[in-house]
Amino acid sequence: FSRAAFLAVGSELLRTSRLDTNSLFVAAKLAACGVEMTEKRCVGDDAQAIAGAVSDLLTRADLVVVSGGLGPTADDVTREGVAAALQRKLHLDQELFALLQERYRRLGRSMPSIAARMAYLVEGAQVLPNPRGTAPGQWLEVGSRALVLLPGVPEELETIFALHVLPRIQGKPILVRTLKVAGRFESEVEQRVSDLYRRFGREKITILAGRGTVELVLYAEGPSELAAMEQAFAEVLGADIFGRDEATLPQVVLEALKSRGWMLATAESCTGGMVGSALTQVPGASEAYLGGVVAYANTVKVRLLGVPEEVLATHGAVSREVAEAMALGACRLGAQCGLAITGIAGPAGGTPEKPVGTVHVAVAIPGQLQHRRFLFGGSRQTIRELAANFALDLLRR
Ligand code: ATP
Ligand code: MG
Repeated sequence: FSRAAFLAVGSELLRTSRLDTNSLFVAAKLAACGVEMTEKRCVGDDAQAIAGAVSDLLTRADLVVVSGGLGPTADDVTREGVAAALQRKLHLDQELFALLQERYRRLGRSMPSIAARMAYLVEGAQVLPNPRGTAPGQWLEVGSRALVLLPGVPEELETIFALHVLPRIQGKPILVRTLKVAGRFESEVEQRVSDLYRRFGREKITILAGRGTVELVLYAEGPSELAAMEQAFAEVLGADIFGRDEATLPQVVLEALKSRGWMLATAESCTGGMVGSALTQVPGASEAYLGGVVAYANTVKVRLLGVPEEVLATHGAVSREVAEAMALGACRLGAQCGLAITGIAGPAGGTPEKPVGTVHVAVAIPGQLQHRRFLFGGSRQTIRELAANFALDLLRR
C-alpha cells in the first residue's frame, strides 16, 4: 500500500464536543510502516453519506480505513453504507452470531435482538476479532485495494489495528503481551512508564484503566523486542505487576495464600462481600478462602466479629482500630489470614475528618497486623470497587 485514506463515521464528530482522534492513531501507525495518509473525511451516521465517501476515497487511495458505526444500534450503519458502495450483499455470519451469543452468555446476559446486527458481514469480508468489545472489524478486498472497517471506540480500534490490521499491511505477525498492575492508579502508572513510551514508541503501548487495576498492553514486532519491553516494564513497575495476559487479581491472591499454606477469611463492611465474590469466581477458591462476614451494621461487627463496643464508640466504624479488630475477628473464624474493609462509600455520610471515599483496610497475618488508609474518589460503586481491589492487592504482597 502507498496511499491511505481515513473515514471517521459518527454524527457526534460533526457537532461541537467531540473530535476524531482515531485518524491520528492510524496515521502514526501507517507512517511507521511507510504508508502515507493522503486524505481524511468525516461523515455522520448516514448510510448514503458513508457509501458516497467510501466510493470516492477508493478511487484515490489503495487502503481505506473506516472508523465507527459498527455497533448494534439503528444509527450504526457503516455495514449498510459500505455494502451499498461496493454493491455487495450483507449476510448474517453464523459463526460470528454463535460467538456473540457465547460472549453475552459469559457476561451472564441474554443477547438483545439488536446485537445480531453485529454478526452481519459485507460479502467477502474477513473478520477482525475484537478482544476489547463486541463489534468485530472487517477486512475487505476491493480489486487490488483494501477497505478496513473498525469500531469507533478508540481502545477497540487501536487493539484491532495493532493485532489484525498492521500484520496484514506488513506481512508479519505482531506479538502481544498484557501486563497487569494493581495497587496503583492509572495516572501513577502512566507517569512511571512515560520514559518507556518514548523508548519503544507510544503506539506500541496501550494503557487500560480498571478500578484498582491497570492493564498495559505491549505490541512487539518480534520476541526480542517483546522481551526487552517486558524487562523494561518490570524494572520500572516491579512488584506492582501482579500477572500477565489472562491472570486475574483474585487468582494471584489465592495462589499467594496457598503457597504460604494460609486460609483467608474476610470481614467486609462498605464492600458488602465484593472481595468474597471476586475470590469465589476462581475455581478451587475453597483451598485458600474460608468465607467471611458482611459486617455492615455495627451490631454485626460486634456480635459476629467481636469488635469491642467501646472501640466502635471511641473511634467510629470507619477507623484503623475497627478495621484491625474486624481483621482479628475474621481470623477467629478459623483462618491464618484475616482481611477487613471499612469505609465511607457515599454519596452521603462524609465529614471533614472522614470524607466520602475514606477506606480503612486491615490485614491480620500470623504475628502481624497491617493497616492502610485510602482516600478514593468517584461514585459509590467506584469507591467500593477500588476498595475491594486495593484490599485484594494487599493480600498478595
Ligand atoms: P462501534 O464502536 O460499535 O463501531 P461507534 O463507534 O459508532 O460504533 P459510538 O457509540 O458512536 O460507537 O462511539 C463510541 C465512542 O467512540 C464514543 O465515545 C465516540 O465519541 C468514540 N469515537 C467514535 N469515533 C471516534 C473517532 N473517530 N475518534 C475518537 N473517538 C471516536
Ligand atoms: Mg457512532
